Amino acid sequence: MATAAAAEVQTKAENQNGEQKTRHQEVGHKSLLKSDALYQYILETSVYPREPESMKELREITAKHPWNLMTTSADEGQFLSMLLKLINAKKTMEIGVYTGYSLLATALALPDDGKILAMDINRENYELGLPVIEKAGVAHKIDFREGPALPVLDELLKDENNHGSFDFVFVDADKDNYLNYHNRLIDLVKLGGVIGYDNTLWNGSVAEPADTPMRKYIRYYRDFVIELNKALAADKRVEICQLPISDGITLCRRVS
Ligand code: SAM
Ligand code: CA
Repeated sequence: MATAAAAEVQTKAENQNGEQKTRHQEVGHKSLLKSDALYQYILETSVYPREPESMKELREITAKHPWNLMTTSADEGQFLSMLLKLINAKKTMEIGVYTGYSLLATALALPDDGKILAMDINRENYELGLPVIEKAGVAHKIDFREGPALPVLDELLKDENNHGSFDFVFVDADKDNYLNYHNRLIDLVKLGGVIGYDNTLWNGSVAEPADTPMRKYIRYYRDFVIELNKALAADKRVEICQLPISDGITLCRRVS
């Protein structure tokens, strides 16, 4: 029987330049988001049929909001929910709430005595989704703080009891501050705990040449996201996993 290495050799094919490519190189990176139809298939087959009624309602409310581009997608919401349950998360934090889709996914996934410290500079958008969160019976898990997140983290760090106390943190706010968040969160998340940084593929711009035409906000944050990705890859305090879900989410598991 062939070894795994031999099997890989067997699946090699030649491209136009005569270079050898494995079957995985040919297919793997292209398969996930090959077409809009495939993404729609994922949503309609596996995501929407299992989406809680409250999350559907919040998704529909958010779709009517002018900044709806910012919302967490339903497939990412489903992923977060599964992840939180897999790691038995109880004490969590979210930076960047908007109308609360990822917040609701989190609140529904946590046990009844679970807690989410949720921060956003904008209360109005949070309040748009709040009635749905309340109706779902999970609002008691949420401690919402209006304002920039960085000073809240600095305040938390002053109390030793908060160090190493969070099971999970979802960061989905100002990308130019992600490294500042990381340098604080690393002390707040427990050993074995997880920090998820959202939008780490930044609309695909991270892999495009700098002179590619891009929308202004994409260009502005692109360099920060590239710097973050490099810094996380080099940070020995965490194990990382870059997932091509939605706009890319990088999971960091604290190991020291
Ligand atoms: N997680 C949200 C969801 O599921 O819909 C989406 C968050 S949205 C992409 C980014 C949010 O970060 C915005 O609501 C914005 O107000 C907030 N934000 C921007 N800068 C911030 C800061 N310095 N501190 C806290 N929140 C901030
Ligand atoms: Ca996001």
